[in-house]
Amino acid sequence: MEIKDRILVVEDDRRICNFFKTVLEANHYDVLLAHTGSEAYSMITSQCPDVVLLDLGLPDMDGLHILKSVREWSSMPVLVVSARTHEKDKVEALDLGADDYITKPFGTSELLARIRTAIRHTRTGLNQSGQQTGLFSSGGLLIDYDKHRVFVDGVDANLTQNEYKIVSLLGKYAGKVITYDTIIREIWGPNMKNDNRILRVNMANIRRKIEKNPAQPQYIFTEVGVGYRIVEPD
Ligand code: CA
Repeated sequence: MEIKDRILVVEDDRRICNFFKTVLEANHYDVLLAHTGSEAYSMITSQCPDVVLLDLGLPDMDGLHILKSVREWSSMPVLVVSARTHEKDKVEALDLGADDYITKPFGTSELLARIRTAIRHTRTGLNQSGQQTGLFSSGGLLIDYDKHRVFVDGVDANLTQNEYKIVSLLGKYAGKVITYDTIIREIWGPNMKNDNRILRVNMANIRRKIEKNPAQPQYIFTEVGVGYRIVEPD
């Protein structure tokens, strides 16, 4: 018997719910529906979904409350699907631990790709201390996590330690936007606040070393006002 991945859709708009159900079932997912925040809570704890698609505007609460409380005990993938398009809303959801943020309206293939990425992340191996091991490769870009080196077309890119840390952090969450604040906190620690400048300088240097044309990057993309995203591995 085929074991299907189970997706919980948290959405109060019945038309959107039906759309999700049709599309996801046609793509061999098991679909659970919750129309309110409290329904979502009980389904998340009782049904153990593989992925949660979370609307933010729910009748009984803000979806971010659900995200916050799930993150207290679980790293299950949560994709926020929202009509809120402000950068501030995206940053808040990502910083609270959302795996991704999809803005309504969105295309079916985009949705399915984001779901596949989120599921794959929960199944990629990290070692016991949570560090990535092995190799990441996409086109000519190779991250060797064991040697702490980055190669482009077989040539060592000579990244500094901090540049390497930034690239490997993005690689660990490939395909997902990592917010500026998260990167700064991970690389420079919690006391380096509100200074994107040092990150921008580092990113400019990284791009100069790894991109053919730093103005049109093919490996690390900027999500303006939100953060950076590295390409998916091959
Ligand atoms: Ca809604």
